[in-house]
Amino acid sequence: MGVEKVKNEALKILGLFPVLPRLVVFDLDHTLWPFYCQGRSKHEMPSLYPHGKGILYALKDKGVDVAIASRSPTPDIAKTFLDKLGIQSMFVAQEIFSSWTHKTDHFQRIHRKTGLPFNSMLFFDDENRNIEAVSTMGVSSILVGNGVNVGALRQGLIVFTQKSVSSDRNNQKPLLFSSSF
Ligand SMILES: [Mg+2]
Repeated sequence: MGVEKVKNEALKILGLFPVLPRLVVFDLDHTLWPFYCQGRSKHEMPSLYPHGKGILYALKDKGVDVAIASRSPTPDIAKTFLDKLGIQSMFVAQEIFSSWTHKTDHFQRIHRKTGLPFNSMLFFDDENRNIEAVSTMGVSSILVGNGVNVGALRQGLIVFTQKSVSSDRNNQKPLLFSSSF
């Protein structure tokens, strides 16, 4: 599938959900691109997983912000690659640093930078320990097996929607469609 086709497919999926996340956060290594950038050369030309760009463009089209949370110890290489791929300017936050926490400090920084609550965020990562740690903060977090793709996007939006509905019930907040009287 080419970028345009993936983008249209992703837009179709996004159109099925009445409430979208405000921010979608991506890991880099083995989530957006199929390698570890540690140990690679800045002079290489990287490529994303086949659905990566189409999904990013569709999210932008829908007004959903995107950000990066990566524990790569080589942020300079990662940023060079993002630049070469022509997507560096798309991200409202790029938190790329190694850390012993499983990305909870990355998300604290993203929260401070964007002002967005954790329950309005959706996160994709290929490491279960990151998924577990970040979901305890209230972020809808999806483990990807072979990079991010439209299937993972759909799954993420389902989890996000289920979480919003159940937290609305817990807080006894009226749902949007019942607030007209
Ligand atoms: Mg990774």
